[in-house]
Amino acid sequence: MTRAPLRLRLDGDALVHNWRHLDAMSGAAACGAAIKADGYGLGALAVATRLAAAGCRDFFVASWAEAEAIAPLRLSVSVLHGLRGEDMELAGWGIARPVLNSAAQVARWKAAGGGACDVMIDTGMNRLGLSVDELYLLEGLEIGTLLSHLACADEDVAMNEAQRAAFAALAGRTGAKRLSLANSAGIALGPDYAFDLTRPGLALYGGVPRGELAAIRQVVTPEAQVLQRRTVPAGRSIGYNAIWTAPAATEVAILNIGYADGYFRGFSNTGGALHQGRRLPLLGRVSMDLVAIDVGAAPDLGEGDWLALDYALPQAAAQSGMSQYELLTSLGHRFDRVWSG
Ligand SMILES: *Cc1c(COP(=O)(O)O)cnc(C)c1O
Repeated sequence: MTRAPLRLRLDGDALVHNWRHLDAMSGAAACGAAIKADGYGLGALAVATRLAAAGCRDFFVASWAEAEAIAPLRLSVSVLHGLRGEDMELAGWGIARPVLNSAAQVARWKAAGGGACDVMIDTGMNRLGLSVDELYLLEGLEIGTLLSHLACADEDVAMNEAQRAAFAALAGRTGAKRLSLANSAGIALGPDYAFDLTRPGLALYGGVPRGELAAIRQVVTPEAQVLQRRTVPAGRSIGYNAIWTAPAATEVAILNIGYADGYFRGFSNTGGALHQGRRLPLLGRVSMDLVAIDVGAAPDLGEGDWLALDYALPQAAAQSGMSQYELLTSLGHRFDRVWSG
């Protein structure tokens, strides 16, 4: 098998560390895992296998196709987007349970015979979920977890407490066994937000949405192979639109990675690579499949060598103008995904 010229280094120990840390921060509440979007781009099967081994018991995906992809693991899975007519066959197999979001979804589930389900209540997001005055529709349902979702948990705004209070007021009103409100940032808002079950995604994978989560460790490091090393003479430019011009003769390595891999154009002239503890700046525009790195400080690096991109998520988000979520979920299919731990 030909190995790809780019790979994602995935640190399984850091992933498990992050889950344990979020579990501890969740106090008495259980800590689940959001593994939608193929485990935020890392690979849902690999992520779920490791987290289940660490003790995680509750997994959240967006769609039934995503539930089907991890069905061989036989985990407890909730499908956040609920239940369309097209989903009834897969739902009937019992590989996951729906998070019912609307009156139509509740009716569809009841008509199919019901059974264990979860329910999303809207407390201010106005995206998915039943409104608080539709609780009467839930009569007769076998509800495992009642969920709601925070709109601004990564900010210090009054809306957090308003949503928390609205959700807390639902306790005992639906027969649900558990209540669940907090995503990654919500866990950091404190024990009042944990209820019975938390649902982190981003922070599991190394994202840091709030300062309280500073102990979260980086999980994902893109690495790319050097295709060519060259000297760019003084006064010459690199790449599309010639947005970087060499002030003096500059040693450059051309790496096999670009925006088609999720290494966004926003890293043009701001991204970088890490080599032996030193940051090597990215020069010029990020192309579809190539970038140029200043390797003047790394005389040993040549064709065929590998370089790690600087991908500490909070800083990389600031450099590229993308969110930490986008930096993870856009990592493409051309990488070999290589796990340690
Ligand atoms: C994606 C998602 C989560 C996880 O959110 P993070 O911000 O990634 O921690 C939790 N709950 C719901 C309903 C989600 O859609």
